[in-house]
Amino acid sequence: MVGDLKQDSRYDWLSDLRGIKLVWAKYVQPREDWDHDHCLGCGQKLMDSECEDAQKLGWMTIAVPLYGDDTEWVCDDCHETFKSEFVWLEPKCEL
Ligand SMILES: [Zn+2]
Repeated sequence: MVGDLKQDSRYDWLSDLRGIKLVWAKYVQPREDWDHDHCLGCGQKLMDSECEDAQKLGWMTIAVPLYGDDTEWVCDDCHETFKSEFVWLEPKCEL
C-alpha cells in the first residue's frame, strides 16, 4: 500500500509534514486581509465563512512553521489517506 501512496500526486507535498504534529481544528482567519488557506496536499480550500467549495475544519500544524510563519493545513481526506504513512497520531476531537 505504501507504494501506491507514493504514486499519489499529494505525496510529495505532504511528505514535508512527516512526523509533524497536526491537530484537528476549526479554521480561523489569520488576518483581515487573509481569509483562507488551502490543503497542502490537494489544494482543498479552508475558510471560516460560508463558502460552497470550502471546508471549515481541517488539520493544522501548531509547532513548526515550514514555510515562513505560515500555518500549514491538511484537509480531512488527505489526513485520512496519509495519517499512517506520515505518522500523524493526534486523534480527531469534538469541535
Ligand atoms: Zn487535501
